[in-house]
Amino acid sequence: MHDLEMQYMEEAYKTNWMSTVGENINTLENQISKMTDHYAVALSSGTAALHMAMKLATERAYGKGETLRGHRVFCSDLTFDASINPILYEGGIPVFIDVEKDSWNMDPDALRKAFDTYPEVKIVALVHLYGTPANMGEIMNIINEHDAILIEDAAESMGATYKGKQTGTFGHYGCYSFNGNKIITGSSGGVLICKDEEDANKARKWSTQSRENAPWYQHEELGYNYRMSNVIAGVVRGQMNYLQEHINQKKDIYERYKEGLSDLPVTLNPLIKEGQANNWLTCLLIDEEAMCPQIRDDHNVLYKSEKNKTCPHEILDALNEINAEGRPIWKPMHMQPLFHRYPFITCTHLGEDLFRRGLCLPSDNKMTPEVQDYIIDVIRACFE
Ligand SMILES: *Cc1c(COP(=O)(O)O)cnc(C)c1O
Repeated sequence: MHDLEMQYMEEAYKTNWMSTVGENINTLENQISKMTDHYAVALSSGTAALHMAMKLATERAYGKGETLRGHRVFCSDLTFDASINPILYEGGIPVFIDVEKDSWNMDPDALRKAFDTYPEVKIVALVHLYGTPANMGEIMNIINEHDAILIEDAAESMGATYKGKQTGTFGHYGCYSFNGNKIITGSSGGVLICKDEEDANKARKWSTQSRENAPWYQHEELGYNYRMSNVIAGVVRGQMNYLQEHINQKKDIYERYKEGLSDLPVTLNPLIKEGQANNWLTCLLIDEEAMCPQIRDDHNVLYKSEKNKTCPHEILDALNEINAEGRPIWKPMHMQPLFHRYPFITCTHLGEDLFRRGLCLPSDNKMTPEVQDYIIDVIRACFE
């Protein structure tokens, strides 16, 4: 936090605009519109934004008032499950698409294969994981070939660009999150961005219980309580001024890890060359040759330490010892019991391998170089 957030929050308090209308919401939506050249709708969470995007995409694909029931949606397999839940909220069928090596995001070859198998699919929902843009050149070629509707989950990638264009702005719909752990935060909150004004207005209406323009509470469509609070918007509005500063701090963290771990049998998460990542999290992938034995079931893990070898959980345990937080790479959706019965399309099975050999390193932008050097030493010791 910096001081501006408190100032805007206090303004909301002092002027009694404590609900879901007010200056902070309007200004925030304008700030995001300016940054993305899209219409912006401030909502209670990134998940709410993804849900609204899924409903808008459904109407665009299948007609007004239609649901997603029985329709397949192509979606990222290696992601956080909030990317996928809106498909289930709407009764759709997720078809998981594996990742590619260059970006750890949706593999264009697997997406092509998916369209060969299910040519009727009309909606594609992809994530820009860990703040690295997906391979949007190839992906957009495929989307355009099939006249599909794209939803971008840019919850982790705010401010990241591909060939100079903001992630979230390639398709009809994009979403950012202001959850407590994201690159900028409001403690909670999210925003939907849309190409068309009509879509933004629909989302604004749906997210405030679908109230019609009438003297009484008149309802003709299903509604949701998804609008952002003007208090939260004050925090996000203040944070917007620090987005670039936070990105710079995250880049420094990535570079420091890269240098400090350069002689170990590891690689960091890729930063696609056509793009500029926001480096939200730095992730480590251990070379196969340097992996000690490690097995997992649905809830537990076992590993066996070996000389000159390690595994994600040995490093995570060592980090935990010094009270530093790390985490395994997100577990692929097709491996989750919740999603077991849905199709998974892959050319390489890379996502499973990243989950097995990879971990997210402590990446807080308040981490000092001295603390980070200590963390690097602790990681290095695991390889001895
Ligand atoms: C955080 C996150 C979300 C959800 O955002 P909330 O604001 O927490 O609802 C969605 N997708 C991804 C990839 C995320 O990391």
